Amino acid sequence: MEIAENLQSIKEVLPSDVELIAVSKTHPIGTIMRAYDAGHRAFGENKVQELIAKAPAMPQDIEWHLIGHLQTNKVKYIVDFVHLVHSVDSLKLLKEINKRAAGKGKCIDCLLQVHIADETSKFGLNEDEVRLLLNSVDFSSMKNIRVRGLMGMATFTEDKSQVRNEFTELKAVFESLKEDVASTSNWQPEVLSMGMSGDYQIAIDAGSNMVRVGSAIFGARNYNAD
Ligand SMILES: *Cc1c(COP(=O)(O)O)cnc(C)c1O
Repeated sequence: MEIAENLQSIKEVLPSDVELIAVSKTHPIGTIMRAYDAGHRAFGENKVQELIAKAPAMPQDIEWHLIGHLQTNKVKYIVDFVHLVHSVDSLKLLKEINKRAAGKGKCIDCLLQVHIADETSKFGLNEDEVRLLLNSVDFSSMKNIRVRGLMGMATFTEDKSQVRNEFTELKAVFESLKEDVASTSNWQPEVLSMGMSGDYQIAIDAGSNMVRVGSAIFGARNYNAD
């Protein structure tokens, strides 16, 4: 399968207001460059180690998205260049991002990850926790982050109606937060990041405007490869 062709055929079916993040985790730079050379610029990685190995070795106009769990003690490694952190799942982590960004005189865009799946293994806040965070005094004082919306992952299941229900639920949470929590300089909700290779069509139907697609672009991942 040709990467440029895969990208092209996905972009053809995406509505114009849906952004495609090419998830390049586990793939070497040479492979990722084929998507870059085809004109793609937004890439997603789920591990800080991998992200900081690849980013300096690749063209500087790439927008790097961190889509996997972020530990507080790793924030300092990515503040210089990360474009959007999709996986903020605690006030503590947001505080650390704010602090590190302030140290660099920057403002970093983030999404809050919401837990919508059955699996307990998936990270994320629930709706009440998101509301508490957005309404907290701590949050209102953070000047170096901007929460741009929400991210979620559906249950890994063949049951498409369950996946649809979970995405629909996240869209409803997003809409009700937009309604209930007034926009401020650091709460500017515009992005709903949901949908991967197996379920991005369902996610878009449910209201996603950012999809994170890996294997449908780059092929299957080999986690055993070095
Ligand atoms: C790996 C990953 C994706 C992409 O998965 P595919 O099924 O390969 O499209 C999307 N989002 C997150 C958070 C991931 O870890």
